[in-house]
Amino acid sequence: MAYEQEKQVAIAAVTQAAQLCEAVRQGLVPEAIEKNDKSPVTIADYGAQAIVCHALAAAFPADPVVGEEDTTDLRQPEAAPVLAAVTEQVQRLLPDTTDSDVLRFIDHGNGSVARRYWTLDPIDGTKGFLRGDQYAIALALVEDGDLKVGVLGCPFLSFGGETGLLLVAVRGEGAVMMPLAGGSPQPLKVTTPDDTDRFRMVESVESGHGNLSQQAVIAQAVGITTDSLRMDSQAKYAAVAAGQAALYLRLPSPKTPDYREKIWDHAAGVLVVEEAGGKVTDMHGKPLDFASAARFPNNQGVVASNGSIHNAVLAALRQGAVAQ
Ligand code: AMP
Ligand code: MG
Repeated sequence: MAYEQEKQVAIAAVTQAAQLCEAVRQGLVPEAIEKNDKSPVTIADYGAQAIVCHALAAAFPADPVVGEEDTTDLRQPEAAPVLAAVTEQVQRLLPDTTDSDVLRFIDHGNGSVARRYWTLDPIDGTKGFLRGDQYAIALALVEDGDLKVGVLGCPFLSFGGETGLLLVAVRGEGAVMMPLAGGSPQPLKVTTPDDTDRFRMVESVESGHGNLSQQAVIAQAVGITTDSLRMDSQAKYAAVAAGQAALYLRLPSPKTPDYREKIWDHAAGVLVVEEAGGKVTDMHGKPLDFASAARFPNNQGVVASNGSIHNAVLAALRQGAVAQ
């Protein structure tokens, strides 16, 4: 099997990181949620990046990791209590870890895009994490600009069965999901055109991360009449891959028209959808460019679909662009 070791290391690392995030989240006090207190997110973000980077550094020391977090803030003297809290969480999984180990592990995630590299979002969907909604730990391996392995840990996700899912894809070998708590893998398959119940769109909960009105126009243009699913994080890619939605649209917000999407917000989810039989491009039909930089230099928006409606979506987007 191709990339077998990479896949196993990624699964183990994401599963452990998900355990850490859930331990932190379950310790959340209601006041923190009310005040939108970012500190629990911060501790879990840093802790998850430390756990995953530790595993990748041990197994693949030559591979750079392009992760979301860095230690600039964590190294400030006033952040000492936060660092202590992160170390305490990491120690539950890796006993004997010190503060300086934690800083070193997190810094391992500040690599650059290279011929072969990993990209990591330790908590994708931080707002969902705080709200008790969807969030994901997202890890992918890229070689020569091509996604090879993608793993999504989604502690809150359920498609009717157990809550807490792990989605795993290897290029050319399909995509599967299994309970994060352990269990047998089930193949993932996008919706078929005759599955009218799930012929719907999934989009972000955060209106500022997309263009809800334009997304609705495009969905309607391809015949989608059912209400959208709204989810934080790359759980949206999971919904498309599992056949729970036919389309994930992420068009640039009118408030941030020049926003460039980050590779770690998409890499794992894209491969999961592609290996489940779907298609992913930017809003202009271009493939997402994982070969260049941490932010896509020449891509705008994202269209992830079941494949069969992809061209119709792109055509509607072209017409929309003309009409504007
Ligand atoms: P979601 O959960 O789909 O709303 O996406 C969460 C991700 O949106 C975060 O990881 C951010 O990196 C990203 N993000 C932040 N600002 C924007 C923006 N203006 N447009 C699109 N995505 C954004
Ligand atoms: Mg993110």
